[in-house]
Amino acid sequence: MLDTASLKELLSQPKRIVITTHHKPDGDAMGSSLGLFNYLIQKGHHARLITPSDYPIFLHWLPNNPEVIVFTEKPEESKELIEEAELIFCLDFNSLSRISEMEKYVREAEGKKIMIDHHLEPEGFDDYRHWSINACATAQLVYDFIVKEMNEPELINKDVASCLYTGIMTDSGSFRFPTTTAEVHHIVADLIDRGAENWRIHQLVYDNFSECRLRFLGYCLLNKLEVLEEYKTAIITVTREELQRFNIVTGDTEGLVNYALSINGIRLAALIIERPDRVKLSLRSTGDFPANEICKRYFNGGGHRNAAGGHSEKNLEDVLQEFKLILPEYKNLLIL
Ligand code: 5GP
Ligand code: MN
Repeated sequence: MLDTASLKELLSQPKRIVITTHHKPDGDAMGSSLGLFNYLIQKGHHARLITPSDYPIFLHWLPNNPEVIVFTEKPEESKELIEEAELIFCLDFNSLSRISEMEKYVREAEGKKIMIDHHLEPEGFDDYRHWSINACATAQLVYDFIVKEMNEPELINKDVASCLYTGIMTDSGSFRFPTTTAEVHHIVADLIDRGAENWRIHQLVYDNFSECRLRFLGYCLLNKLEVLEEYKTAIITVTREELQRFNIVTGDTEGLVNYALSINGIRLAALIIERPDRVKLSLRSTGDFPANEICKRYFNGGGHRNAAGGHSEKNLEDVLQEFKLILPEYKNLLIL
């Protein structure tokens, strides 16, 4: 394990650095990673950000987004960069299976691995860890890392601030989840002072729907929402044909599950999507209900207590039935 002083020493001279984040990166994954990228390049490092897959178009405005390398588009270049990196920053995940095809290359790489993350149960592949499950976003931990561990608040320029604001905004549900403490608001205020245009970032991320996406949302709410009063659970399922019919692209289903959770009295919401390769589940819950436990036990996944995900090799109908059969076991927690 590296200590903070040694890492600081390593970062005092230009290094070859790779930053990576989880498969299908969300606002926090990209915001924290590009935030760190925009910090490291100011220090003269040769930093590259490699994502395992593509990510939503509403994140493409992030400062220095054109520098991002998508592994599946440039596998050979990516492998070389990973192999040659002296330091590999792993952001917003703590188990290497979350970086899909990149897992093997990062695991075998010689570079020191620095994990910055807020998920439960780290696998333990890292040489340095800045980890807290109490953080509302990995972007909050990147802020801490720069300000408190590296002691360089002056390097949080407008680009870094805009990225970190985006990460905190998206992972805190626009500053409304319980993890949004007073400290988070102080951090966000500082990011605005340092140049993050909060109103503009909200617009770029949330008011950026394609017409297809909005109509798809309406269709799902009207035709695909199933409410199980008995279990205070709401489910939306989406077939592959529906994804095609509405021209759904990466990011278009983001946020859909939250509508199911917004129904009065609902404690658990599930979005079950028939993706081309496998069935993907997204669960959201309120209060103490452990959505991550269901994902971990039954659907090869995990996550946070109130926001978790997983997948299954079964077909959509079977996954839906399996999910419904699990509910009686959790009834006592659901009807609290
Ligand atoms: P989403 O439902 O937005 O895909 O994911 C919500 C949260 O669940 C993510 O922040 C992540 O922590 C977790 N998650 C989603 N999919 C998986 C998965 O396949 N495996 C694990 N371990 N966690 C996941
Ligand atoms: Mn996150």
